[in-house]
Amino acid sequence: MAATILDGKKCSEMRLEILKEEIGECGLHPHLATVIAGKDPASQMYVRMKHRACEQVGIGSVGIELPGDISTQKVLEKVRQLNADPDIDGILVQLPLPKGIDSERIIEAIDPAKDVDGYHPENMGLLFSGKPRFTSCTPTGIMTLLAEYKIPVAGARAVIAGRSIDVGRPMAALLLNADATVTICHSKTRNLADELKRADILVSAVGKAHFIRPEMVKPGATVIDVGINQLEGKLVGDVDFAAVREIAGAITPVPGGVGPMTIATLMENTLKAAKVRACSSAR
Ligand code: NAD
Repeated sequence: MAATILDGKKCSEMRLEILKEEIGECGLHPHLATVIAGKDPASQMYVRMKHRACEQVGIGSVGIELPGDISTQKVLEKVRQLNADPDIDGILVQLPLPKGIDSERIIEAIDPAKDVDGYHPENMGLLFSGKPRFTSCTPTGIMTLLAEYKIPVAGARAVIAGRSIDVGRPMAALLLNADATVTICHSKTRNLADELKRADILVSAVGKAHFIRPEMVKPGATVIDVGINQLEGKLVGDVDFAAVREIAGAITPVPGGVGPMTIATLMENTLKAAKVRACSSAR
């Protein structure tokens, strides 16, 4: 039997509708600032999508566009201005930044209370210590999708391909916090197929088209495809979708799976930041 399709687009639309209502009722006017440097078309598209989602749910948004040859110092100044701006609740720096900009210093300069992308070391530390505050949008969106489809996580064996700071590592921490038994694989992992084949929940964040083939997947497993790749002019994930869906129990499509959940989570994190700031200024 073909796998259940985990429809991230539908789930995200539903969450955005709920969020819109909540924002309408809560009396807060959350604001997100995005910072982009350079003219990478994919990054520009992601930022546009984030602003569109803000508009949809009633979050104000400000887009800061910087030249690709800007210095780290100038980006830092911009981030500090946003940190100090009382109207801004969340700050998102679109990654990757152009070569020559020290991304780590930029991320570390964001006020952790406005770090709606969850990349600041303080927020990462909280996540890994089991007391999450802001958590990275993509893995958090995946957890929401698993919950929405009632995929059991506690006690499940979860295997993640990819150890990046934006996906693989926070994904592992979130799954662990939800009581999964977690393995992280990466480019140096031996016998990758054997590791992946043990997974009840397999998350691929590698960035290679058709990297996950059916022989790497346990029958009935839940397969989460984070990858975004171009193949013969088409957008595809890491998973050989047509073949893997025949043996998986559940699977995310690309597009329409993880991507929309990432954006919904960013909106949720921005409202959360606005609420926390409102509470702390009321004290
Ligand atoms: P990255 O390049 O930072 O990390 C890729 C990871 O894959 C690395 O940890 C590396 O060790 C691992 N890897 C590479 N070759 C491997 C191999 N042969 N076997 C096992 N592991 C291997 O990428 P990233 O930022 O984590 O993104 C991964 C993919 O997810 C990309 O396609 C990216 O575009 C996509 N992405 C999608 C979303 C979304 O919202 N859908 C969000 C973030 C990233």
